[in-house]
Amino acid sequence: MNEAAGFSAGHWQPATHHAIVATREPTMPTPVLPIVAALLTAATAVSYLPQDPPGYRDTPRLPDGWRVHDADRPRPPVVTPPPAGEPVPAPSDAIVLFDGKSLAAFRGNGGAAKWTLQDGAMIVNGTGDIETVAEFGDCQLHVEWSAPSPTKGDSQGRGNSGVFFFGRYEIQVLDSFENPTYADGQAAALYGQKPPLVNASRKPGEWQTYDIYFRAPRFGADGAVQQPARVTVVHNGIVVQLDEALLGATAHRAVAKYERHGDKGPIRLQDHGDPVRFRNLWVRPLQLERPAAPPAAK
Ligand code: MG
Repeated sequence: MNEAAGFSAGHWQPATHHAIVATREPTMPTPVLPIVAALLTAATAVSYLPQDPPGYRDTPRLPDGWRVHDADRPRPPVVTPPPAGEPVPAPSDAIVLFDGKSLAAFRGNGGAAKWTLQDGAMIVNGTGDIETVAEFGDCQLHVEWSAPSPTKGDSQGRGNSGVFFFGRYEIQVLDSFENPTYADGQAAALYGQKPPLVNASRKPGEWQTYDIYFRAPRFGADGAVQQPARVTVVHNGIVVQLDEALLGATAHRAVAKYERHGDKGPIRLQDHGDPVRFRNLWVRPLQLERPAAPPAAK
């Protein structure tokens, strides 16, 4: 999503003033209150908002009680992942989406994918999102990506991209190494829905891996959702989403909801204006319905 506009991304510091006001006011001598109020008003006018953590306090609430992109939602603890390694080889039954040589498995806006092909990677270059020509439903997807180094921008403006199943369910790609943003918008978040369990990010410039296990939503004949999409995400070898149900198609500043679609759809990669690199993408379509047992012998 285009989530860069509309929030104060810079000058982040822990915001404690709301709690201070709430807890101190009742016990203060009354003459102090007007002074505090005046100070708060002055501070608001000058520099209060830029000191808030990135995120929002005016968005609708998710079913778990947090607001969409909640500025006050705790950011997941940082875990140092194992060091980056060589590209992870694809299993024999995988469909290779990108092998470092060709963008042929993808298409772009109205035609061929035009991301920059360089040194075995494809690089976001401002030509727009790209998506797979082939369509996928339930699947296992392996993605390797690297955030730009040196860094540029902050919060949602640093190393932002994304992996969208069915072109609409985003696993966030973001440089989340020492780059605070709202919890449901950091790397490996189900964007706008669920922060990762931990922040397993590597440094910008290093290769990172996503292994994503995606179960497509099931719709009834009337178009209603019978079973939501479910997703497990392993980031740099660390489980960060475990069988989470998606609320619907990724939305910005709104609660996600479903719109009926078919059994398969494209996998889309986001051009958010940052030169994020990708390499070694492969996917394994999953046949989840197992063969039925033969009738029992009498
Ligand atoms: Mg994104």
